[in-house]
Amino acid sequence: MAPNIKEGLIKLIELQKIDKAIFDLKKEHDEAPGRLAQIDATSAEMKAHLKGLEENRQKMLLDQKKKEGDLAAREEEIKKAQGQLGQLKTNKEYQAKLAEIESLKADQSVIEEEILNLMEAVEAAKPPIETERQRLTEEEKNFAQQRAALNGRVKQIEAEVQHLEAKRKVAAAGVENTMLQHYEHILHGRWSVAIVPVKEGSCQGCHMLIPPQVINEIRMHEKLISCETCTRILYLEDDVGAA
Ligand SMILES: [Zn+2]
Repeated sequence: MAPNIKEGLIKLIELQKIDKAIFDLKKEHDEAPGRLAQIDATSAEMKAHLKGLEENRQKMLLDQKKKEGDLAAREEEIKKAQGQLGQLKTNKEYQAKLAEIESLKADQSVIEEEILNLMEAVEAAKPPIETERQRLTEEEKNFAQQRAALNGRVKQIEAEVQHLEAKRKVAAAGVENTMLQHYEHILHGRWSVAIVPVKEGSCQGCHMLIPPQVINEIRMHEKLISCETCTRILYLEDDVGAA
């Protein structure tokens, strides 16, 4: 006995609703790891930026300490040279020692200037670090919420898919076998849309115009009619009473 085409169409439309819902949920499910990775990447980027600011400040601080050491060393050298002044025998040696002391003092003022500049820079580096640290703390809260929401949604999707797949089994069991095979073949090749209505004369799968004689064939219910362009099964909403 030939299968009842109209009844088959109605059942396939019902099956299609379930399959489309499963497809969309699975797509959303598959996108979740990428979205999680994106959150992690943004977080890592912010942390790296903060770390860079902190390291830069730390570097300047170390440089400042080193220069403070240099300054103290010059101070010692000056004291030592000044101590030697009294022991010098000739005026020439005395003048040379004085010149050495002057040179050391000149070095000192250069180093002092550098230390002052570094102190200013170290101080100026503080507020942006603090701002960035606060921003990161705030953002980490957001990231944690986003991760929790995503993970929650993934679990919800898994439950929904499980429920829909059970529903699908029942719906598919009601469809005549060759029709089901035909439907499923198109389904897998066509982004999970295997059966579409004709609206205002065009296929709602690929939007190509459907000739009037094909529309008449659909109404005849002799066989499943496919769109010549996208191969999807066609139906008419008023024909099958689907909304
Ligand atoms: Zn089409």
